[in-house]
Parts: sequence; C-alpha cells; structure tokens
Amino acid sequence: MRTLRDLEDLSGKRVLVRVDFNVPLDGQGGVADDTRVRGTLPTLRELRRRGARLVLVSHLGRPKDREPELSLAPVARRLGELLEVPVQMAPAVVGEEVTAMADALAPGEVLMLENVRYEPGETKNDPELAAALAALADVYVDDAFGAAHRAHASTVGAAQLIEERAAGLLLEREVGTLRELIESPERPLLAILGGAKVSDKIKVIERFLQVSDTILVGGAMVFPFLRAQGHAVGDSLCADEDVEHARRLLQIEQSAAKLMLPVDLIVADHFGADATPEQLDGVEVPDGRMGLDIGPRTVAEYVGRVADAGTVFWNGPMGAFELEPFAAGTRTVAEALATSSATTVVGGGDSAAAVEKFGLADRVTHVSTGGGAALELIEGRDLPGVEVLA
Ligand code: ADP
Ligand code: MG
Repeated sequence: MRTLRDLEDLSGKRVLVRVDFNVPLDGQGGVADDTRVRGTLPTLRELRRRGARLVLVSHLGRPKDREPELSLAPVARRLGELLEVPVQMAPAVVGEEVTAMADALAPGEVLMLENVRYEPGETKNDPELAAALAALADVYVDDAFGAAHRAHASTVGAAQLIEERAAGLLLEREVGTLRELIESPERPLLAILGGAKVSDKIKVIERFLQVSDTILVGGAMVFPFLRAQGHAVGDSLCADEDVEHARRLLQIEQSAAKLMLPVDLIVADHFGADATPEQLDGVEVPDGRMGLDIGPRTVAEYVGRVADAGTVFWNGPMGAFELEPFAAGTRTVAEALATSSATTVVGGGDSAAAVEKFGLADRVTHVSTGGGAALELIEGRDLPGVEVLA
C-alpha cells in the first residue's frame, strides 16, 4: 500500500482526499460526535504543511435525494474549528462551480465537496462521476477506512484515474493495526465478540477460531449458542437462522477449546431503561424473561482473561449497554481493556460508541473508525479501497 511518504512534491498540487465524515449530526446544525473528523486531522495537517490544495470528499448517511439534512456543511464548519482554518463548502459534488472553486484554491486552503451520495453514481462506481471527481485533483489520498470495503466512485473509481495515489495516515494505521493483530499478535490473542446477531459475525468468529487463543462471547449473540446447546432462552433475542449458524460454529473442532459462553446472566421482563434487572444464576432463561447483559460471574471470568492476554480484539457490546441497568457487563469489560497492558483494539460502531461513552477511548491502544471495514479485513477479505492503493 502506497502511503503519504511515497508522494513526492505536493506543493501547489490539488489533492482529492477521501475522508470518512459519516458522523452523527445533532439536528441543530452541529455535529453530535466528531471522532471521525478528529481522526483525519493528522493527514490533513500533513498535506497542508506540504503545501497541498485540499479537496475533501465524503459521504454522509444514505440520502435518497439531495436531502438538505444530509449536507456536509455542518461537518465542514466543525472541521474548520478543529483545523483552525476556514473550510470552504462547495454547493455540489461536481460541476462547473465546484471546478472553479477547486482551481481557485491556494496552497493550504481547504474545500469540502457536498455529500458524495447526492450523486446516484457514487455507490454504482459510475465512470462519469469518477472522472469528474478525478478531474478536480492531481493527487488522490484515501483516509476513509470506514468506506474502504466499498468499491464506489470516490473510493475506487476516482483513485484508479489518478496516477499519484496513497493511503492517508489514518487509513495506514487502521490497516496496519488490524493486519498485525491477525498475522503477528502478541499471545495470547483474545477476541471478545458480542452485539446483536451471530449472522453478522459468522466469518469473524470462524477466523478467530483459527487465529485466536480464546473467544469470549457476549451480547445477544449468546442466545443462539445457548439454544443450540439445548438451554432455554425465554424471550431473549434469538433468530432461528442464528441458532443454525451457532450450531455449525460449535461443531468446528477448535470451538470446544476456544469458545467461551456466559455462565450467568442479567435478565428482565422487557427491553427498556425502566426494566428491573434480575440476576440469573445460570443460563436457563425462564419464559417471560430476556437476557440483557452478562452476569457477574461471567464478567469476573472475562476480566481475568483480559488481564492474561497479550492482545485483545473487541467487537460488539456485552449487553444492551445503551440502557443503564444493563450496561455493567460492557462497562466492566471496557475498563479491563483500559487497564490492561496488552495491545487492545476495539472495532465496530456500537463498541466504539461504548468505549467513548465510558470515557475510555484514549486508554485503549486503538479504536477503529471503520465498523464493517474492520470486520471484513479480519475476515481476510480484500478491501477494494485498500487494494487500489497498492
Ligand atoms: P457493533 O456495532 O459494535 O458491531 P452490534 O451492532 O453487533 O455491535 O450490536 C450492538 C447492539 O447489540 C446494541 O444496540 C445493543 O443494545 C445490542 N445488544 C447487545 N446485547 C443485547 C441483548 N442481550 N439483548 C438485546 N440487544 C443486545
Ligand atoms: Mg452496530
């Protein structure tokens, strides 16, 4: 993968930077969480320092049309505050006016294009859109790890048309950290996998059954496994198709030694912040109850495993952490990562939100900004947005 170090003289050149500014907005003209914007600052500062003229492109949400609520203008404003330079906002993604603005940029100046998904050609990797984007720049830099698993016009099409191209610092770090975790981790390598559905993460579980030493299972993902083992799951989240997946995973030879399931649970009679948490000693969930967090004996066991690990990868919350009565499992495991001396990597949208919410994000080694992309990289798949930078 080519990096910023491979790019020669950038001074006065227009650089198209694919960033991942797909951030939550606060609905009042502001950005609710600017983690992803801050993540790309090192790349933008480096490019400005080298005299580049910056044209930034990103998607935001999934606009069906040119929905003004999904304009990148609030993000451009936030970026301007963080970079401490004005960020110009283009009125569209491409077109005459945008071309004129890009051409008028002085070295170090920054132009933000409109939400690239305002153009229906973006997700189809339309050659015309790719050409129009490529025409805005002399150099292409991709710092949008969160979009690298999609072959879109702004991640692949435009990149292919610009000879000088490279990964930004964030993308380089994301890919490097995750590849090292899989290929040469300090052992024991511990994977903590939770979240909502087994079916989202089958390939990730399969990969970790091969490469990790232990997998700790939490979240709603627990119940298909428990049911496949013949336990009662009550009203817990547990799709039939997921039970089939779990059954198959349990038959993989390494599962017996590596896959650990909870030994106790926190249950309640409904999913809500007003629900009363009840401690269940064991994993037999009665009718009328659903499992919403891992129990204290399980938490203690999992925390011990984190303490003994050389490397930890964590994806997927241990319970319904958004609801305070069911946040303890996720919080305690997050704290164990924060105090561990192991290399600790957190990947996944909700898992990243959890460590952020508990104020622990800067105490783990790396929080991946790419949910789906991080998981695909771990599965061993080639990411088109990364391959194009080779
Ligand atoms: P990530 O985004 O980190 O990959 P997922 O999207 O797979 O994680 O899962 C996160 C969601 O799983 C959260 O919204 C959380 O509330 C939910 N969840 C976790 N445990 C449970 C549970 N026991 N019952 C219901 N939902 C759960
Ligand atoms: Mg999620």
